Amino acid sequence: MDRLWAPWRTKYITKVNSLKGCIFCSKPKSGKDRKNYIIARTRHSFSILNLYPYNNGHMMIVPNRHVGSLTKLTREEIADLMCLLIATQELLSKTMHPDGFNIGINVGRAAGAGIKNHVHIHIVPRWFGDSNFMPVASSTKVISESLGTLYDRLVKCSRGKK
Ligand SMILES: [Zn+2]
Repeated sequence: MDRLWAPWRTKYITKVNSLKGCIFCSKPKSGKDRKNYIIARTRHSFSILNLYPYNNGHMMIVPNRHVGSLTKLTREEIADLMCLLIATQELLSKTMHPDGFNIGINVGRAAGAGIKNHVHIHIVPRWFGDSNFMPVASSTKVISESLGTLYDRLVKCSRGKK
C-alpha cells in the first residue's frame, strides 16, 4: 500500500492524533451515517469511507468494540467483521470495477496505524497503473470523485440499484 503516493495522509495522521477520544467510537454513535460516510452496519461492525484515502474507494471495516487488536475480539465479532469485509469487497467490485484490492491491518503505531487503539481493516481498490499514474497526476485522480458522490453510489448499489 505504501507504494501509492498519498501526501494528504500526513495531515490526517497529525490531525487524528491531536483529537480527543476515538472517531471509530464517536462516529457510529452520532447517528449521522451520511455525514460520517458510514456505508453499512452489522451487529458487531461497520464500514466507513476513509476521509484521506490511499486511493478512490478506500474503506475501513471496524468492530464496534474499542479494542486495539484482533486478538481481543470474540470469535463472533471476528466472523461478523470478516463477513462485512467480504460484503464490502463485493460492493466495491460491483460499484467501481477495480482490477484488484489491497486488504490489510496495521497493528500499533510502529506498523503505521493512524488510529492505534481501535483495530480496523483497510480495503483499498486498485486499478492497473494507479501507482504509476498518481505521482504525475497528484491528487487530481484520487479526489476526482468527491466522497459524497461516492458514498451515494455505494449506498445505492448496496441496495441493489445501479
Ligand atoms: Zn474506539
